[in-house]
Amino acid sequence: MLDNAVLLKVRDLKKFYPVRRHSFLKERGYTKAVDGVSFELNRGEALGLVGESGSGKTNLGLCILRLREPTSGEVVFKNQDITKLKPNEIPGIYKDMQIIFQDPYSSLNPRMRVGEMIGEPLVIYKLVKSRIEKEAKIKMLLKEVGLNDAFIEKYPHELSEGQRQRIVIARALSVSPTFIVCDEPTSALDVSVQAQIINLLEDLRNQLSLTYLFISHDLSVIKHICNRMAVMYLGKIIEFGETEKVCSSAKHPYTRLLISSILIPDPTLKYEHLSLNDEIPSSIDVPAGCRFHSRCPYAEEVCQNSEPVLTEIERGWFVACHLLI
Ligand code: SF4
Repeated sequence: MLDNAVLLKVRDLKKFYPVRRHSFLKERGYTKAVDGVSFELNRGEALGLVGESGSGKTNLGLCILRLREPTSGEVVFKNQDITKLKPNEIPGIYKDMQIIFQDPYSSLNPRMRVGEMIGEPLVIYKLVKSRIEKEAKIKMLLKEVGLNDAFIEKYPHELSEGQRQRIVIARALSVSPTFIVCDEPTSALDVSVQAQIINLLEDLRNQLSLTYLFISHDLSVIKHICNRMAVMYLGKIIEFGETEKVCSSAKHPYTRLLISSILIPDPTLKYEHLSLNDEIPSSIDVPAGCRFHSRCPYAEEVCQNSEPVLTEIERGWFVACHLLI
């Protein structure tokens, strides 16, 4: 892969939150929400990020966009380390990097009309020179997300959930970004609308050469839209590879359990019929050794004492498990 194909490089990214009994007392530990994550994202690809709630997926997405301040590590976007940007330089990156959140209603200003909301970034980033140009661009963006000019005068409460998420997408597209973090963009929507939004996001990626980091707990969505996927557990990536391969023959015991517990039963998959009943341990008290050992059916003594490193077991396929490396 040529280096200029790489759009985003994340290096040893960490996000720790201090834990205190009272705000004025010294910290007594840290919640390790993101604990040394590294990966690369190529231009035009959709990388899926899966894991249970509390695995650190959303924190990772927010740190990449500097919407949360990382504790340490690098985020190199188009050859620029954005963790080094000064606070006044950060808004400039949102001309090229955007996010679509889970809940479209809370992402929209209830007092603004659709046209104003989509037009706002065009004005802030000086992307249009006149009111006529702005109106034409708003109409074009609405068309791109499958809506018509009649929506310009509407308020969020006059729209359906699916229409609201289309407006959120249109607003994200208004600055012509290269990269979008899609943070569970369909999980707050009705099942009947989810497929429409997924198909829209997929069509837009193809038409506009967008690159996605697609965060979801829904593996069927990841399978549909992402060419590669990363599985997170307690702040770390524990398996990373091509979506087809990982879903059909996952190597890490956690990935196998995750797939067997949430995928629609598939007779071609020969995974353990176990479920992830135990709760994910607290990220304040991350287990020593392999952080999955307290729930792993294959744990051995070595798993309690030594942390496995993410290792390439096949070209482009990485796993962190002592039994495989
Ligand atoms: Fe299970 Fe040990 Fe592998 Fe961790 S390293 S996933 S505990 S077998």
